[in-house]
Amino acid sequence: MTSENEGVVCPLVHGTLLHRAGRAAILLDRDGVLIEDTGYPDDPEQIIVLPRVPEALRALQSEGFRLVVVTNQSGVARGKFTLERLDEIHDRLRSLLLAQGVELDALYYCPHHAGGSVAAFTADCDHRKPQPGMLRTAALELGLDLDASWMIGDKESDVRAGHAAGCRSGRIGAGETAAEVQAADLPEAVAAIVNRTRDTR
Ligand SMILES: [Mg+2]
Ligand SMILES: [Zn+2]
Repeated sequence: MTSENEGVVCPLVHGTLLHRAGRAAILLDRDGVLIEDTGYPDDPEQIIVLPRVPEALRALQSEGFRLVVVTNQSGVARGKFTLERLDEIHDRLRSLLLAQGVELDALYYCPHHAGGSVAAFTADCDHRKPQPGMLRTAALELGLDLDASWMIGDKESDVRAGHAAGCRSGRIGAGETAAEVQAADLPEAVAAIVNRTRDTR
């Protein structure tokens, strides 16, 4: 940068920088939230993005939220599929979303389980939800503000992981929950979260 440019702040750039300084994120569970929950999907072709999910994710992006998937994948520890296959499934998920104008900022998974059958992945890992390890790692690596972020999942273990990390939580589906927002699906949860965060800005 030359000295001539110093002190010249384009309002648009400045606005973008201020916006990015917050780095609020929506931390998203995968199965039952973004894609159909089919148990332990082991084929990229089985991945089916749930209705209106791309639109909901685009709305979050335009509100300035980072999009970070955090998913327990104990199927690896249980010997149901390999890490390589899991990466193929996630490549497929990313490309399906990209085709709809959504770029995920990051995707974290925990392949571990204490009761696994594959020795290399048999462990009681603090990245496995309801532990908050994946969310904390994401926050450190991506510079996220967890206080301004939300965890959205379809199980109470997702809700608990979000709260343990200092986020608010959104719960998809019926049943008793400690979540701040409860909704039938991701689009409904996103509408509620966008309303709440606009109110507090
Ligand atoms: Mg789930
Ligand atoms: Zn793990």
